[in-house]
Amino acid sequence: MLSLGNDLLEEPEPVSNSNTALSSQRTLRPLDHSSGRRPLPAMRHYLLEAIAERLPCPYQVAGCEVALATCEVEEHARECFFRDMLCPLGTLNTCFWTGKLTQLMDHFRQNHPLNCNICNESDMQVSGICEDRDMHYVYLIAQTNMHFLITVKTATVDKAVHICIQYIGSKEEARRYIYEIHINSVHDAASRVVFVERCFNDTIQVDDIFRESKCVSIPLRKLRHYVEDEKLAFKFVIKKEAQSSALKKK
Ligand SMILES: [Zn+2]
Ligand SMILES: [Zn+2]
Repeated sequence: MLSLGNDLLEEPEPVSNSNTALSSQRTLRPLDHSSGRRPLPAMRHYLLEAIAERLPCPYQVAGCEVALATCEVEEHARECFFRDMLCPLGTLNTCFWTGKLTQLMDHFRQNHPLNCNICNESDMQVSGICEDRDMHYVYLIAQTNMHFLITVKTATVDKAVHICIQYIGSKEEARRYIYEIHINSVHDAASRVVFVERCFNDTIQVDDIFRESKCVSIPLRKLRHYVEDEKLAFKFVIKKEAQSSALKKK
Protein backbone atom coordinates (compact mmCIF):
# COMPACT_ATOMS: atom_id res chain seq x y z
CA MET A 1 0.00 0.00 0.00
CA LEU A 2 1.21 3.41 -0.87
CA SER A 3 2.15 5.67 1.96
CA LEU A 4 1.14 9.29 1.46
CA GLY A 5 3.41 10.49 4.22
CA ASN A 6 5.98 13.19 4.18
CA ASP A 7 8.34 11.07 2.17
CA LEU A 8 6.30 11.78 -0.94
CA LEU A 9 6.79 15.49 -0.43
CA GLU A 10 10.52 15.14 -0.53
CA GLU A 11 12.15 16.45 -3.66
CA PRO A 12 13.71 13.63 -5.61
CA GLU A 13 17.42 13.41 -5.36
CA PRO A 14 19.04 15.16 -8.31
CA VAL A 15 20.24 12.84 -11.00
CA SER A 16 23.93 12.61 -10.76
CA ASN A 17 25.31 14.28 -13.81
CA SER A 18 28.49 16.18 -13.42
CA ASN A 19 28.15 17.60 -16.94
CA THR A 20 25.25 19.84 -16.06
CA ALA A 21 25.49 22.88 -13.90
CA LEU A 22 21.83 22.44 -12.96
CA SER A 23 22.26 19.09 -11.29
CA SER A 24 25.31 20.21 -9.36
CA GLN A 25 23.46 23.26 -8.01
CA ARG A 26 20.28 21.53 -6.83
CA THR A 27 20.13 21.08 -3.10
CA LEU A 28 17.32 20.01 -0.85
CA ARG A 29 15.81 22.61 1.42
CA PRO A 30 15.16 21.49 5.00
CA LEU A 31 11.69 20.01 5.51
CA ASP A 32 9.22 21.84 7.74
CA HIS A 33 8.06 18.87 9.83
CA SER A 34 5.09 20.72 11.31
CA SER A 35 3.47 21.19 7.91
CA GLY A 36 5.20 18.52 5.93
CA ARG A 37 6.06 21.09 3.29
CA ARG A 38 9.25 22.76 2.36
CA PRO A 39 9.39 26.51 2.91
CA LEU A 40 9.11 28.48 -0.31
CA PRO A 41 12.45 29.63 -1.67
CA ALA A 42 13.17 33.31 -1.81
CA MET A 43 11.32 34.19 -5.03
CA ARG A 44 11.97 37.00 -7.43
CA HIS A 45 8.90 39.17 -7.87
CA TYR A 46 8.79 38.93 -11.63
CA LEU A 47 5.39 40.63 -11.82
CA LEU A 48 6.54 43.55 -9.71
CA GLU A 49 9.73 43.78 -11.70
CA ALA A 50 7.75 43.80 -14.95
CA ILE A 51 5.52 46.59 -13.66
CA ALA A 52 8.54 48.56 -12.48
CA GLU A 53 10.14 48.16 -15.91
CA ARG A 54 7.14 49.50 -17.83
CA LEU A 55 7.94 52.52 -19.93
CA PRO A 56 5.87 55.61 -20.62
CA CYS A 57 4.41 56.13 -24.09
CA PRO A 58 6.68 58.28 -26.31
CA TYR A 59 3.68 60.68 -26.53
CA GLN A 60 3.38 61.09 -22.79
CA VAL A 61 4.06 64.81 -23.12
CA ALA A 62 1.10 65.07 -25.49
CA GLY A 63 -1.17 63.44 -22.92
CA CYS A 64 -0.86 59.65 -23.24
CA GLU A 65 -0.76 57.95 -19.84
CA VAL A 66 -0.25 54.39 -21.06
CA ALA A 67 2.63 52.44 -19.51
CA LEU A 68 4.16 49.79 -21.72
CA ALA A 69 6.50 46.83 -21.68
CA THR A 70 9.57 47.50 -23.78
CA CYS A 71 8.35 45.20 -26.56
CA GLU A 72 5.02 47.04 -26.78
CA VAL A 73 6.35 50.59 -27.22
CA GLU A 74 6.90 50.55 -30.99
CA GLU A 75 3.51 49.12 -31.91
CA HIS A 76 1.64 51.33 -29.46
CA ALA A 77 3.43 54.46 -30.72
CA ARG A 78 2.27 53.67 -34.27
CA GLU A 79 -1.40 53.68 -33.24
CA CYS A 80 -1.38 55.94 -30.17
CA PHE A 81 -4.26 58.43 -30.00
CA PHE A 82 -1.71 61.19 -29.25
CA ARG A 83 0.74 60.36 -32.06
CA ASP A 84 1.75 62.80 -34.79
CA MET A 85 -0.20 61.95 -37.92
CA LEU A 86 0.34 62.65 -41.58
CA CYS A 87 -2.63 63.84 -43.58
CA PRO A 88 -4.39 60.71 -44.89
CA LEU A 89 -4.79 62.51 -48.23
CA GLY A 90 -1.07 63.20 -48.43
CA THR A 91 -0.33 60.54 -51.02
CA LEU A 92 -3.26 61.64 -53.20
CA ASN A 93 -2.87 65.39 -53.33
CA THR A 94 0.58 66.07 -51.88
CA CYS A 95 -0.75 67.57 -48.66
CA PHE A 96 2.15 67.73 -46.21
CA TRP A 97 0.12 68.47 -43.05
CA THR A 98 1.14 66.75 -39.83
CA GLY A 99 -0.71 67.07 -36.57
CA LYS A 100 -2.73 65.32 -33.89
CA LEU A 101 -5.88 63.31 -34.40
CA THR A 102 -7.84 65.93 -32.48
CA GLN A 103 -6.84 68.47 -35.15
CA LEU A 104 -7.48 66.25 -38.15
CA MET A 105 -11.13 67.12 -38.78
CA ASP A 106 -10.39 70.86 -38.61
CA HIS A 107 -7.60 70.32 -41.11
CA PHE A 108 -10.01 68.50 -43.45
CA ARG A 109 -12.71 71.15 -43.10
CA GLN A 110 -10.25 73.87 -44.01
CA ASN A 111 -8.26 72.10 -46.69
CA HIS A 112 -10.29 69.14 -47.96
CA PRO A 113 -13.93 70.14 -47.45
CA LEU A 114 -15.17 67.71 -50.08
CA ASN A 115 -13.59 64.83 -48.20
CA CYS A 116 -15.35 65.27 -44.87
CA ASN A 117 -18.70 66.47 -43.56
CA ILE A 118 -20.02 62.96 -43.99
CA CYS A 119 -22.06 61.31 -41.27
CA ASN A 120 -22.58 57.69 -40.47
CA GLU A 121 -25.42 56.24 -42.57
CA SER A 122 -24.93 58.98 -45.16
CA ASP A 123 -25.81 58.41 -48.78
CA MET A 124 -22.69 58.88 -50.85
CA GLN A 125 -21.94 59.12 -54.50
CA VAL A 126 -18.61 58.70 -56.22
CA SER A 127 -17.97 59.42 -59.87
CA GLY A 128 -15.54 58.19 -62.45
CA ILE A 129 -16.49 54.54 -61.98
CA CYS A 130 -15.38 52.77 -65.15
CA GLU A 131 -13.01 50.02 -66.19
CA ASP A 132 -10.60 52.30 -68.01
CA ARG A 133 -9.64 54.77 -65.31
CA ASP A 134 -8.00 54.56 -61.90
CA MET A 135 -9.91 56.41 -59.21
CA HIS A 136 -9.16 56.86 -55.50
CA TYR A 137 -11.26 58.71 -52.93
CA VAL A 138 -10.59 59.08 -49.20
CA TYR A 139 -13.10 60.59 -46.78
CA LEU A 140 -12.80 61.36 -43.08
CA ILE A 141 -15.74 60.51 -40.84
CA ALA A 142 -16.07 61.65 -37.22
CA GLN A 143 -18.37 59.86 -34.84
CA THR A 144 -18.34 61.40 -31.35
CA ASN A 145 -14.62 61.23 -30.53
CA MET A 146 -13.85 58.43 -32.99
CA HIS A 147 -12.57 58.88 -36.50
CA PHE A 148 -12.79 56.61 -39.50
CA LEU A 149 -11.43 56.74 -43.03
CA ILE A 150 -13.48 55.46 -45.91
CA THR A 151 -11.56 54.65 -49.07
CA VAL A 152 -13.10 53.92 -52.45
CA LYS A 153 -10.81 52.81 -55.21
CA THR A 154 -11.03 51.39 -58.68
CA ALA A 155 -8.02 50.25 -60.62
CA THR A 156 -7.74 49.33 -64.26
CA VAL A 157 -5.43 46.50 -63.25
CA ASP A 158 -8.14 44.50 -61.47
CA LYS A 159 -11.27 46.20 -62.85
CA ALA A 160 -13.02 46.16 -59.52
CA VAL A 161 -14.34 48.64 -56.99
CA HIS A 162 -12.85 48.32 -53.52
CA ILE A 163 -14.37 50.03 -50.51
CA CYS A 164 -13.02 49.81 -46.98
CA ILE A 165 -13.46 51.67 -43.73
CA GLN A 166 -10.59 51.99 -41.27
CA TYR A 167 -10.75 53.05 -37.65
CA ILE A 168 -8.10 55.62 -36.71
CA GLY A 169 -6.61 54.15 -33.56
CA SER A 170 -5.56 50.81 -32.20
CA LYS A 171 -6.03 47.45 -33.89
CA GLU A 172 -7.82 46.20 -30.81
CA GLU A 173 -10.40 48.99 -30.93
CA ALA A 174 -10.79 48.66 -34.68
CA ARG A 175 -11.86 45.05 -34.39
CA ARG A 176 -14.90 46.10 -32.39
CA TYR A 177 -16.39 47.82 -35.42
CA ILE A 178 -18.05 46.46 -38.49
CA TYR A 179 -19.38 48.37 -41.46
CA GLU A 180 -22.11 47.79 -43.98
CA ILE A 181 -22.09 49.04 -47.57
CA HIS A 182 -25.54 49.23 -49.14
CA ILE A 183 -25.57 49.61 -52.92
CA ASN A 184 -28.86 50.32 -54.63
CA SER A 185 -29.46 49.81 -58.31
CA VAL A 186 -30.10 53.00 -60.24
CA HIS A 187 -32.31 50.99 -62.60
CA ASP A 188 -34.46 49.11 -60.12
CA ALA A 189 -35.13 50.35 -56.59
CA ALA A 190 -35.95 46.84 -55.45
CA SER A 191 -32.51 45.62 -56.41
CA ARG A 192 -29.76 46.15 -53.89
CA VAL A 193 -26.78 44.43 -52.34
CA VAL A 194 -25.43 44.79 -48.82
CA PHE A 195 -21.90 43.91 -47.79
CA VAL A 196 -20.69 43.59 -44.20
CA GLU A 197 -17.02 43.73 -43.29
CA ARG A 198 -14.90 44.25 -40.21
CA CYS A 199 -12.91 47.47 -39.73
CA PHE A 200 -9.13 47.47 -39.70
CA ASN A 201 -7.15 50.27 -38.16
CA ASP A 202 -5.33 52.97 -40.08
CA THR A 203 -1.82 51.63 -39.52
CA ILE A 204 -2.52 48.94 -42.10
CA GLN A 205 -1.85 50.10 -45.65
CA VAL A 206 -5.16 50.32 -47.46
CA ASP A 207 -3.64 48.71 -50.56
CA ASP A 208 -2.74 45.67 -48.45
CA ILE A 209 -6.37 45.43 -47.34
CA PHE A 210 -7.51 45.65 -50.96
CA ARG A 211 -4.90 43.17 -52.16
CA GLU A 212 -6.04 40.62 -49.61
CA SER A 213 -9.73 41.37 -50.30
CA LYS A 214 -10.38 42.08 -46.63
CA CYS A 215 -12.87 44.72 -47.70
CA VAL A 216 -15.82 45.16 -50.05
CA SER A 217 -14.56 44.23 -53.52
CA ILE A 218 -16.90 44.05 -56.50
CA PRO A 219 -15.92 43.39 -60.12
CA LEU A 220 -17.01 46.33 -62.23
CA ARG A 221 -18.81 44.08 -64.71
CA LYS A 222 -21.09 43.01 -61.86
CA LEU A 223 -21.76 46.64 -60.96
CA ARG A 224 -23.14 47.66 -64.35
CA HIS A 225 -26.63 47.31 -62.98
CA TYR A 226 -25.75 49.75 -60.19
CA VAL A 227 -23.68 52.39 -61.97
CA GLU A 228 -25.06 55.18 -64.10
CA ASP A 229 -23.08 57.90 -65.85
CA GLU A 230 -19.99 56.47 -64.13
CA LYS A 231 -21.55 57.27 -60.76
CA LEU A 232 -21.95 54.79 -57.94
CA ALA A 233 -24.34 55.60 -55.10
CA PHE A 234 -24.12 53.77 -51.81
CA LYS A 235 -24.82 54.14 -48.12
CA PHE A 236 -22.43 53.12 -45.37
CA VAL A 237 -23.19 52.19 -41.78
CA ILE A 238 -20.50 51.84 -39.12
CA LYS A 239 -21.47 50.12 -35.91
CA LYS A 240 -20.02 48.27 -32.98
CA GLU A 241 -20.29 44.57 -33.37
CA ALA A 242 -22.85 43.23 -30.92
CA GLN A 243 -21.13 41.55 -28.02
CA SER A 244 -23.41 38.53 -28.32
CA SER A 245 -22.43 37.85 -31.91
CA ALA A 246 -18.76 38.35 -31.01
CA LEU A 247 -19.09 35.68 -28.33
CA LYS A 248 -20.75 33.25 -30.71
CA LYS A 249 -17.79 33.46 -33.04
CA LYS A 250 -15.29 32.52 -30.35
ZN1 LIG B 1 0.40 56.50 -26.27
ZN1 LIG C 1 -4.34 67.35 -45.78
